[in-house]
Amino acid sequence: MHIDTRAILAPRTSEFGAVVPPVHLSSTFELDIDTIDGDYAYQRGSNPSRGDLESVIANLEEAKHGFAFATGMAAVSSVFSLLSPGDEVLFSSNVYGGTFRYVEKIFPRAGLTGTFFDDLGSITSADLSEKTRMIFVETPGNPTLRVVDIERLAKLAHEHGALLVIDNTFMTAVLQRPLDMGADLVVQSATKFLGGHSDLLAGAVTTNDDDLAENIRLSQKVFGGVLEPFTSIRLLQAIKTLPLRITRQQENAEKLVAHLREHPGIATVLSAGSFSEHEREIHERQAAGIGAVFSFELAEGYELKTFLHALEIPSFAVSLGGVESLMSIPATMSHDGMTQAARERAGITDTLVRFSVGIENINDLLADFDQAFDAAKNS
Ligand SMILES: *Cc1c(COP(=O)(O)O)cnc(C)c1O
Repeated sequence: MHIDTRAILAPRTSEFGAVVPPVHLSSTFELDIDTIDGDYAYQRGSNPSRGDLESVIANLEEAKHGFAFATGMAAVSSVFSLLSPGDEVLFSSNVYGGTFRYVEKIFPRAGLTGTFFDDLGSITSADLSEKTRMIFVETPGNPTLRVVDIERLAKLAHEHGALLVIDNTFMTAVLQRPLDMGADLVVQSATKFLGGHSDLLAGAVTTNDDDLAENIRLSQKVFGGVLEPFTSIRLLQAIKTLPLRITRQQENAEKLVAHLREHPGIATVLSAGSFSEHEREIHERQAAGIGAVFSFELAEGYELKTFLHALEIPSFAVSLGGVESLMSIPATMSHDGMTQAARERAGITDTLVRFSVGIENINDLLADFDQAFDAAKNS
């Protein structure tokens, strides 16, 4: 079935035939006195509501296993829990700020090494050693939208006995399916497009590998960063409109990007695949569109603060992927966990604006930008 349909077909665990799955709040479950056995025992291990969501998360990607976490960072941490002291992980330098913070603050204590590449897409065998246990990639990357070839990196990783992990937050299974291209694990901040309404925090991990799945399940039990039942069902409901939302958001983004590229008030627009002809070709091969996030810098002669104040529709806030448009300045907001040097290497200037497009009417968005350009132009 098409993903539009798979997103709707939620499990129906209610004994009353409810069309929407119920919220099972119980933290503990009755066990058989003789066998000390039951389908569920304690909520941290598993819960029917989280289980319903996890089956939807897996089903979206047609993956064998899906896991729901309390936040995207809890999902990322569960993946890093697969590592052992001495292991090295390769990253692109424009990785999510929170992931960067993890590598900078926690990796040294755990005896792990994170190595950053400005152009992860062009690494070769020589960049991997016997210590390299994982390649961790966001494509398109945040907030510069650089693209890497998933299939190529999967081959490279596997030749060296390493795992390829893709943070697919910006694309979701609607636009990109990394497991089909050889990735071992996919992580997502479900706070963003999956949730889609800026009203919950959640994370997701998917895999087709039984051993990896067993270890991710273990990390749920050991670290306890699982998603609670009420939010599980709210997220499950939100996912039903994911294909509709992201399609409309992407249409809006395409039109806005095209408009801005022609506008004299803009110096640069960064969108998925825009970095080079090579990256455009890769992105078109492995994804079904640019998504709904792009970044831009104003041209000289336009005042950034005035511009941001003048825009009426978008909120000035971190996060992305919701039905409402959001704008932010990564250097001082989402990516302030990175060092200045790391930001410079990744091309995250202090005046780069990241824009996440919502489902508002496109003509209203275009008109809003145009009046903000007029307001911000130095006379
Ligand atoms: C937001 C985000 C995360 C972290 O997710 P939280 O839900 O905020 O913990 C990880 N990766 C990417 C790409 C993100 O945008």
